[in-house]
Amino acid sequence: MPTTVAIPNAVKGRAATSGRPLRVLVVEDERKVAEALRLGLQGEGYDVVVENSGEAAFFRLTTDRFDLILLDLRLPGRDGIEILSAVRRRGLQTPVVVLTARDTLEDRVVGLDAGADDYVVKPFAFAELLARIRAVARRGRPAEAERLTVDTLAIDCATHRVTRAGKTVELTVKEFDLLLHLTRHARQVVSRDTLAREVWQETARSTTLDNVIDVHVSRLRRKVDADQPVRLIHTIRGVGFVLREAGNP
Ligand code: CA
Repeated sequence: MPTTVAIPNAVKGRAATSGRPLRVLVVEDERKVAEALRLGLQGEGYDVVVENSGEAAFFRLTTDRFDLILLDLRLPGRDGIEILSAVRRRGLQTPVVVLTARDTLEDRVVGLDAGADDYVVKPFAFAELLARIRAVARRGRPAEAERLTVDTLAIDCATHRVTRAGKTVELTVKEFDLLLHLTRHARQVVSRDTLAREVWQETARSTTLDNVIDVHVSRLRRKVDADQPVRLIHTIRGVGFVLREAGNP
């Protein structure tokens, strides 16, 4: 193909500004459908990653970054809505197109309420799906994601990358959620009740859950504060925890 000839179709599946291929995460448990989507989208110039379960997709999203997510709602284990809600709760703004076999108004509303940008009802024509993907990708989301910093701690909410004094801090999903909550409420004392509700999504507190919270806080402290001149995570006895630069009062 002569390089001097401009090919309008060359922009297909590419980011408008940088021209790099758009990365799409396909979450679909039916292997045949997943493979057809992979091949079809690759043929259109997209960079495609397929995950066959909700758990795998969720884990992938904590470590990898995508321009768009194509999410089947019916998945074994954690279903699509659960994944979508969890992703949005964590502040990830990646556009999501939901694939649903359930063409009822209720399902669409649930999907859109949970943070989907659009939906396609199965069975769908590939051309229709492509049109939806293009529209959602074009509409996009603000590229500048939230970035939080306290002292030398930095959290990039889009990539979930956490650094302390410039060094990457490896966290589990729960540790990340906990740190994010404490950082969003920096300099405020956060009670175990609040953490149970906001981070663990448990309405009733229990001794077991309190222990789980305490274990996570101490692990987080080891990872974030170890060998640092300034400690950030403090326990306020009988009340809860606070993330701040200064020591306990
Ligand atoms: Ca399915």
